[in-house]
Amino acid sequence: MTEDDGAVQPRILLKLSGEVLAGESGRGIDPEITGELAGAVLALAATGCSVGVVTGGGNFIRGRDLKSADRITGDQMGMLATLINGLAFRDAVRKRGGRAVVLSSIPVEGIFETFSPEKAEKCLNQGYVVIYAGATGNTCITTDTAAALRAVQTGCSRLLKGTKVDGVYDSDPAQNPEAKRFSTLTYDDVLRLDLKVMDAAAIAICRDAGLPISVFDIWNPENIIRIFKEPSIGSLIGGINHD
Ligand code: UDP
Repeated sequence: MTEDDGAVQPRILLKLSGEVLAGESGRGIDPEITGELAGAVLALAATGCSVGVVTGGGNFIRGRDLKSADRITGDQMGMLATLINGLAFRDAVRKRGGRAVVLSSIPVEGIFETFSPEKAEKCLNQGYVVIYAGATGNTCITTDTAAALRAVQTGCSRLLKGTKVDGVYDSDPAQNPEAKRFSTLTYDDVLRLDLKVMDAAAIAICRDAGLPISVFDIWNPENIIRIFKEPSIGSLIGGINHD
């Protein structure tokens, strides 16, 4: 519902990995791509959607890859990285004239408001782009699971998972030129074939809630809107492609 007209708006959750925010350098935050992504999110919101965004943190730290700390500490560092990305994305949305708020899973008084489904509901209804940072607040898991949780908790009708390639393939297209792209597939296909599109926990959460996932090439930020008009540019997990 919007504050203004009381009409029910579709809700979309976009998972933004740290890698994409880093642009070609793969590290830190690239203002150009981050700005383009913010512009695309605002354009999606302008079509009448409420938009939530979950930020990853892999452009700074992935716990499992960190050599200088144990896994749990590394994961905690990774979760803090998602907060930095949340601030960067909020800034990019505001620079484009949009309204955005960061809700953190981890209380950080003085900088963030803490996530609750009620708080998210209020902010979405007020027309804010709601950025969910701080991941799940638990170690040993990834921000894909955070995205699935927030999407279900806030009643989204679609989870958008942008990737480096244009959908889900039966093998890595970077390694296998014969790799085939799926137009549609079920949640169980992803789990059974161990397709590395999102972690298994995220897929299971979406499956149990019946939440479809669109997978598409996010290096072209316009695809955030295009995927709804031309689903064949990506893959749809757990839904029917009407392209
Ligand atoms: N992380 C965590 N709990 C979560 C989500 C993330 O501990 O609920 C940590 C984990 O170390 C992960 C890092 O934060 O590697 C960054 O998240 P992710 O790898 O999902 O970021 P992305 O690849 O999307 O940028």
